[in-house]
Amino acid sequence: MFFISLDELIHQLENYEEEMLMSVEVSRRKFLQGSVALSVAGASAISATSLFSSEHASKQQSKNGRIPSKITEKTGTGQAVEVATLCEMCVNKCAAIARVEDGIITKLNPNPMFPKSKNMLCPRGNAGLQAIYDPDRLKYPMIRVGEKGEGKFKRVTWDEAYNAILNGTDKFTGLAKILEEEEDNRSSMLFCAGEGMAEHTFKQFYQAFGSSNWLNHASLCLQTVISGYGVTLGAYPQSDLENAEYIVMAGANRAEAIVTPDTMDCFKRTKGRGAKLICVDPRFTNTAAKADKWLAIKPGTDLAFVLALTYVVLTEEIYNKEYVAEHFNGFDEYKESVIANKYTPEWAAEITGLRAKDIYKTARDFMAHAPKAIYYPGRRSTFASNDFQLRRAQAIFQGLGGGIDTKGGLIFGKKLKLGKHEALEPLYDRAEARAINKKDHPVKGEPGYADCAIVSGGGSWISWRNRYIEDKMPYKVRGMFCYKHNPMMNMPNTAKTAKMLKKMDLVVTIDTMPSDTVMYADVVLPECTYLERTDPVKTFAGVEPSIAVRNKVVDPLFETKPVREILQGLTAKISKPLFDITKKYDEEVQDELEDSSYEEVYAEFDLTLPFEGTQEEVNHHMVASIYGDEAAHTLVKEGVYYPNMDKFYKELSVNEHQYYPEKEKAYSVRGGKVKTPSGKVECNLKNLSSKGVDPMPIWRDEYNFKVQDGKFRLLTGRHAQFTQSGTANNAMLHDLIMTNYIWINQRIADKKGIKFGDMIEVSSNTGATRLRAYPTEKIGPDTLFFIHGFGEESEELTWAYKNGGNDNAVIEDKVEPVYGSAVMHETNVEIKKV
Ligand code: SF4
Repeated sequence: MFFISLDELIHQLENYEEEMLMSVEVSRRKFLQGSVALSVAGASAISATSLFSSEHASKQQSKNGRIPSKITEKTGTGQAVEVATLCEMCVNKCAAIARVEDGIITKLNPNPMFPKSKNMLCPRGNAGLQAIYDPDRLKYPMIRVGEKGEGKFKRVTWDEAYNAILNGTDKFTGLAKILEEEEDNRSSMLFCAGEGMAEHTFKQFYQAFGSSNWLNHASLCLQTVISGYGVTLGAYPQSDLENAEYIVMAGANRAEAIVTPDTMDCFKRTKGRGAKLICVDPRFTNTAAKADKWLAIKPGTDLAFVLALTYVVLTEEIYNKEYVAEHFNGFDEYKESVIANKYTPEWAAEITGLRAKDIYKTARDFMAHAPKAIYYPGRRSTFASNDFQLRRAQAIFQGLGGGIDTKGGLIFGKKLKLGKHEALEPLYDRAEARAINKKDHPVKGEPGYADCAIVSGGGSWISWRNRYIEDKMPYKVRGMFCYKHNPMMNMPNTAKTAKMLKKMDLVVTIDTMPSDTVMYADVVLPECTYLERTDPVKTFAGVEPSIAVRNKVVDPLFETKPVREILQGLTAKISKPLFDITKKYDEEVQDELEDSSYEEVYAEFDLTLPFEGTQEEVNHHMVASIYGDEAAHTLVKEGVYYPNMDKFYKELSVNEHQYYPEKEKAYSVRGGKVKTPSGKVECNLKNLSSKGVDPMPIWRDEYNFKVQDGKFRLLTGRHAQFTQSGTANNAMLHDLIMTNYIWINQRIADKKGIKFGDMIEVSSNTGATRLRAYPTEKIGPDTLFFIHGFGEESEELTWAYKNGGNDNAVIEDKVEPVYGSAVMHETNVEIKKV
């Protein structure tokens, strides 16, 4: 067992995904971080809507000739106003310009000013209109009046909702009673959140509240990818697909799963100039169809493939010796391990199902093109239990070609600074450390972990849930706040998640849609959609770094609010009553009160403090304090800012833009040095072995997944038209694809008499789900596939209710051993026609 909060490894991780992986195991402490004078910021702040008033907009003309915010006449109904914002239909945050007519958003267009999205808005981005105008969206605060999970609520005012959270009702227990009964153990409340620009805002609530139990999407998403690259290279790098000459894309279906400018770099710009794309995937995906070569690998065996590539490169001595000599740690040990273990292409052929000659060729071709060759790191959930080691092996292999921090390879790029803002982390003497295991001899405040080797900031959702329902927590966790997160749909073994939610005394959800998780809430707080709110300003690192902002386009509909305003109201209601409980149980606070007044001591526990001021004011300060007022105004106006943007940005043609001149691009910023504390690619992390983790990537027999007789291995993924369950109810997207289908090998389907469109029941030891069949030769005979995000059970979702199959109803809750991620592709399932 290993606890990582102050360990060297977490230092490596903290560099690159602070929000996702920030350690929360630090001692809680009282401090006001980055104190800012909001009153000053407020005086000069300007809101998007006021800036884009018709009169103002008509006067705007950028120096490069483009009119970024203008009155447009291109509508059938008269004048329209355009407002720059950022898409939230998936995680990519492409820049958009919303067209508003008579207060209604009538169109979303791409914003060409943003280097990250390069004038692109995909079908999902266009369908963002439906997010705001979906008749099913949550409209009013509600409290539960039926049984838990029944979805019976009554509409209440915001004050009544806040009051119910504090004091409970005859149906559920309030915060005050929970904290009173748990003697001010703030960790008796769990906080969880999905990905988003306001996740940090919600996390500030968690930090000020003083719980140690934080779970986010990381362990259900790309934790092992981020961490594997993090510990090996010190950061999760970006891929310079635009300049690469050779790309190995394994398990990443960029042609379908997410269509962004770098996807286009891969399939249009890159291929147009002759770059080679090798697709490694068990399915013949659209990416495979567009690749130069498809390697139909057995699921979960990519590690054997990468080890064999490494074997070829090492034994044939075709690696970049200069780069390795200067930038590698532990190279000799790793070389010895790979060669001594005989990870030959012939060995890998047995495991992966690939031909040895294809492995030889891929290794040689990769190195022939290196450093302009990329083994694409991937951005997806954990498929197999060896995923962490796979990512380590990939990162090392990439380094062998020297393609790190260089044009056409993996790059770190630059990040533009932002100013600090107000935060509060009071010390609650009674708050227990994170509920992570049940030790035989627990010591208060001392960490430990039974389920996996390393605890990241985002925790292991699946093992936390399982221990909770098995009564294996070291103390009582009684309730949870859930923000923009749908664990009912997102976590394997839906039945167990339902059990967890039922067991909680208080469940508060903040969301835009009546999701399956919302159906289990005691109090529902309706957030407005991304087009109705300004989110925290964000800096985007890369070759062409920039800062971008999500401006509020129109005022929130119904009684919805941005999460910041929701938390302003909630903290104003609960802060003092909860402090009075702290005062009763916390001896340190009692000591302080002997020397200081109530108000002085309370000031350090005032939960309202992080939410003072508007988001627009905070954003303005964060930009103006570094780049000046004009930059902050430019950001609001254009949606994007970077120094010298007015000089650098050029519209070259309708769909080509220069953001930075070539010589200003940050391809190489560290002279090839990686971001680990040693500055070297870490092949042999010896401290991992004391935690039961292999210090170097090796293949283990247990990685050979057995498909049981008569059963199939289930794979899941996603499609460009849908973003997990978040867009499952979007009617515009349903116009493109109505439902999900299960891919079944054509010969198997023929044997079983299954035809296209037949209803199939898929079942496992976990549960069952139903969806329609898609017989195809594009998948092997022992494998099945369907896209994630369908099959919701909430009757409030007109389009998503019981539409298609829910993968997490059947995926078994297998915990990845290093970071405790959910393993998505190691479940045996059966199928039958129904
Ligand atoms: S890829 Fe599409 S859905 Fe995702 S942020 Fe960009 S436009 Fe929106």
